[in-house]
Parts: sequence; C-alpha cells; structure tokens
Amino acid sequence: HPSLCKVIVVATLSGGGLVAYADAKTSAAAPSVVQSEGEIKKKKVVVLGTGWAATSFLKNLKNSSYDVHVISPRNYFAFTPLLPNVTTGTVEARSIVEPVRNIVRKKNVDVSYWEAECFKIDAQNKRVYCRYNQSDLDGKEEFPVDYDYLVIATGARANTFNIPGVEENCHFLKEVEDAQKIRRGVIDSFERASLPTLSDDERKKILHFVVVGGGPTGVEFAAELHDFVTEDLVKLYPMVKESVKITLLEAADHILNMFDKRITDFAEEKFKRDGIDVKLGAMVVKVSDKDISTKVKGNGEVSNIPYGMIVWSTGIGTRPVIMDFMKQIGQGNRRVLATDEWLRVLGRDNIYALGDCATINQRKVMEDIAAIFSKADKDNSGTLTVKEFQEVIDDICERYPQVALYLENKKMRNIVDLLKKAKADVAKESIELNIEEFKKALSEVDSQMKNLPPTAQVAAQQGSYLADCFNRMEVCDENPEGPLRFRESGRHRFKPFRYRHLGQFAPLGGEQTAAQLPYDWVIIGHSSQWLWYSAYASKLVSWRTRTLVVSDWIRRFIFGRDSSRI
Ligand code: FAD
Repeated sequence: HPSLCKVIVVATLSGGGLVAYADAKTSAAAPSVVQSEGEIKKKKVVVLGTGWAATSFLKNLKNSSYDVHVISPRNYFAFTPLLPNVTTGTVEARSIVEPVRNIVRKKNVDVSYWEAECFKIDAQNKRVYCRYNQSDLDGKEEFPVDYDYLVIATGARANTFNIPGVEENCHFLKEVEDAQKIRRGVIDSFERASLPTLSDDERKKILHFVVVGGGPTGVEFAAELHDFVTEDLVKLYPMVKESVKITLLEAADHILNMFDKRITDFAEEKFKRDGIDVKLGAMVVKVSDKDISTKVKGNGEVSNIPYGMIVWSTGIGTRPVIMDFMKQIGQGNRRVLATDEWLRVLGRDNIYALGDCATINQRKVMEDIAAIFSKADKDNSGTLTVKEFQEVIDDICERYPQVALYLENKKMRNIVDLLKKAKADVAKESIELNIEEFKKALSEVDSQMKNLPPTAQVAAQQGSYLADCFNRMEVCDENPEGPLRFRESGRHRFKPFRYRHLGQFAPLGGEQTAAQLPYDWVIIGHSSQWLWYSAYASKLVSWRTRTLVVSDWIRRFIFGRDSSRI
C-alpha cells in the first residue's frame, strides 16, 4: 500500500531502538537500547496485550529485523475456551495459562516484555503511555514508549450495558481470576446453604444460580455448573440438593442464536430435560443485592427474581484506552476500532488493531465497489451491457478477493442468478442490466462480510496473518502480491486478511457437545464431545499446558471435581 510504503521509509529513517524520553507528566526515563555505530537500527514494534491475537502474532513473528516490546498487565496467555471448565474445577487455572516470557523466549527475534497497562495512545507522536499496576514505585510506575509500528491487541471487557447494579452484584467470566472467583462462590454457596440455622426459603435463595446471556459462554457455563452440581456436589451436600436451581436468562427469542437452528433446538430441549430453567425474551433491567429484575419481551411485565449468585455473560464492551484512542482519531461513535482489510487502523498506517478490540470496516469496500460500477456506466444510463457487467465483476474480484470468494462459493446468490440470467442471453450483446439491481445484490456482500465474530479463532488468525506480513515486509516491497489498488496504479503489498472459519463448538454438559463445522455440517452428542476434547487439546499453546489439561480431565473422570473452597 502506497501510504504504508511511505511509513516504512519514515520508520527506517527514524530508526527503531528505544529513545530516551523526557516527558513532563512522567519523569521516568524509558529503558534505552545502546546501539553501536554503523549498526542498522531495528524497527520498533510495540505490541499491546498478551491474549489470543498478540500471542499468535508473537509466536509467528520470525523476522529478526524488529525490536519487539510487549506491554500487558497480564504476564501470561490464557486459553479462554477452557475458562468455563475452571469455574467448576474440571481443569485447574494454572493448566490453561502459559507465561508470556516462555512463549517469546525461544525466538530469534528480540522481544522484551513489560508488565504494565497502556493508558494512552498518542498516535500523533507515535508513543504510548503505560502504567505498572502497582503504585509502590514512587512515581516511576508510569512510562512512555515510542514505536515505529504499534500492534493493538488489548481485547475487550465485559459489557454491562450500564444496567444498574450489574457491576456491583454480578460475577463476570472474562479472566482467569473471574473463573476462580466463581468457583469459590459456588462452593461457598453450598457451604452457607448447609448451615443449620437457615430456613428452606433462604436455602433456595442462596442456591439459585442465575446465568445472564444465552450465548456460547453463558450456555457452556450453565451446562458446566449443572454437571458440577449433579455429578459431584449433590453427593457431598445431599441435604440441600432439592434447593438447587439454575436459571438462564436470554433477552432474545432463543439461546445460541449464532448457531444452526438444530443446535439451538437441541440445546433448549436438553436444558429443559436437565431442569435448567431457560427464560427467553427476558431482559435484565436492574440488579440489586437481593434480586434481579427482568422485563418480559412483548408484555413489558417486570418480575423480581431472588438469587444467590449471578454470572453475567452478555457480550463485550470497549476498553477505556481504546475508547479514548477512537475519540482521538474520529472514531468516537464506534464500539470497536475500525481497520482496513490489512488490519491497519483507518487513516493510521503504522498502527494495527486485531482481535476483539477491532473490526474490519466493510463500508469502504462497498463504497469502492459502487464507484467501480459508476465508472463503468459511461453514459450514465444506469445500465450496463453483459460484457461491461462481466468486466466490472472481474475488476471487483481482482481488487477484492473476498468478493471473489463469495462468488465462488455461490453465496452471493442474487449476483449469480443475475449473471446466469444474462449469460443465457449472452448472444444478445445489447442486453442491459440494471445498476440498482446490481447494487441491491451487492448489499448481500455487505451483510455476508459483516463484522467478524469476536472469537479466539479470528484473533489468532489475524495475529498470524499480521506476523506473516511483518516477516515478508521487505520481500513484498519488491514483489507486491496483493490485489490491484483502487485509487492508484500497481498492487497492494500484501493480500488482505481472509478469515477461514473452522467451525465452532457449544458444550452442553453431560459429555455432549454441539459442533457446527464448515459447510453447515452439524454434529451433536457424545461423538462431538470427543472432537471437542481433541480439538482443544491440540490447540493449547504448549506441551506443558496440554499435558496439564489432559491430566486434569483424567483426574476429573476418576476422582470427580474438587470441592474445597481454597
Ligand atoms: P484477549 O485474549 O482478551 O487479550 C487481551 C490482552 O490485552 C490481555 O492480555 C490483556 O491483559 C491485555 N490488555 C488489556 N488491557 C490492556 C491495556 N490497557 N494495555 C495493554 N494490554 C492490555 N473464542 C473462541 O473462538 N472459541 C471459544 O470456545 C471461546 N470461548 C470463550 C470462553 C470465554 C469464557 C471467554 C471469555 C471467551 C471465549 N472466546 C472463545 C472468545 C475469545 O476468548 C476472545 O475472542 C479472544 O480472547 C480475543 O482475543 P484478543 O487477543 O483480542 O483479546
């Protein structure tokens, strides 16, 4: 990309190594790298985060011409898909985390790590401001870091939708600490409910577990909790087993909305059989320390449900540092950072954003496609001949390979039908196609290429894509391999990011899992539970975590889950 080329020139000239900073706000001088005369200064890449996107970037970065600095308040990578298992002790917290220093240690690339949180991004001066998360350093806990390239992979935080009382009274399930707190909370509830002084009503209230959000995480947690209760806790607390209740609240008409209907139906049926009370169309409006108020969709009726423990899992929100940065760069009205298909923050060519904190802006693609179309309509008649139409399609596919992909997969049915109709009559060169009709068909692309889901799969693929771009930066400068540029001549340096969906799982408890695989292939039941075990074991980040998780699973099969409240 031309502007990126410019940045690279700047980056090469301005060099990489750490600069000595003097900042009025933060007197701390940042560490500096001494470089001997004549040594080529490395380009400095600052990576924010140690989650899925950042770790995948770091693991795949092989080009030693960068000086990489990782900044994150968490000095480990956490395998989030197994977090629901941590809430019940099916796997231990330490089994699913890997120290980031372990991950980057073996690399031939210079990588350093600072345990700090970035609280401000200054894109103008190519600098980020960071804070160590303890304040016992006499004012030295804040420090600035300059960058040539910034990789933002800070993920997201739990979204409370500003509903009163959620922050104060609910558990979230986002971090390892959250899962540990939930585990202690569940066991604590059983111990409290077993005290002899309590009435039946009090016992029932304490043992009422409410899960808010019928997405994959909420559903998996509800299923995991149900297994924990029925397989382990009822044996240890037989006197309170009749008082246990699990309720799942979902504001939409069904749980697991993003899955195939067969999976949704199966999950709802299974939960009903298991005695999990699924309340659909129930929107939470307030949470107090005693009850949770829901408004029923349709009649607007508000009911107050007493609870013992609530786990809130309703989606993700923006981190303050990202919100502040978005305001700076004119994206203040968005929920996540908008990037182009090369994962560059729009208008900031040396800043990349990936994972849950970003989304690829498809609107620009649509605008470009519409412009290509208008250009082809030379006489402004609003129609094109078949030949012109075919040329336009070829042009669009050349510039936007993902559109070609949709065409190949026959997903843009309107366009395919339109073409078929035209081709049937191809001898009549004069046949005309309506531009408006075509644009309408293109809106299908818009909805199909809508925001990628905020998943580990997307984040990891983006991380490895970006590492690949960094690895081949010089080669691709000389031999660009991307699609044609729309506004200038030549090609883009890299192919745009293309997401490959490998399928997704929804564990439903009782050793049953629903798997939605590519080409709408759905498997539900015990067989897909084994698929789930093998897929997750293979995806774990190291042999150490793999061994620990597998041995935790075996331990659970033999001895059950541990119910000590430590
Ligand atoms: P994260 O992995 O959240 O990493 C963000 C990183 O940024 C962290 O290291 C954090 O400490 C750091 N950070 C935060 N603030 C700052 C700051 N100010 N400065 C510097 N660093 C900062 N996805 C799937 O595909 N499959 C699943 O089965 C699945 N299950 C899930 C289960 C649960 C319980 C949860 C919570 C999520 C699950 N996901 C799953 C979603 C997946 O975890 C996320 O999509 C993924 O973690 C996003 O990766 P990320 O790198 O963008 O963010």
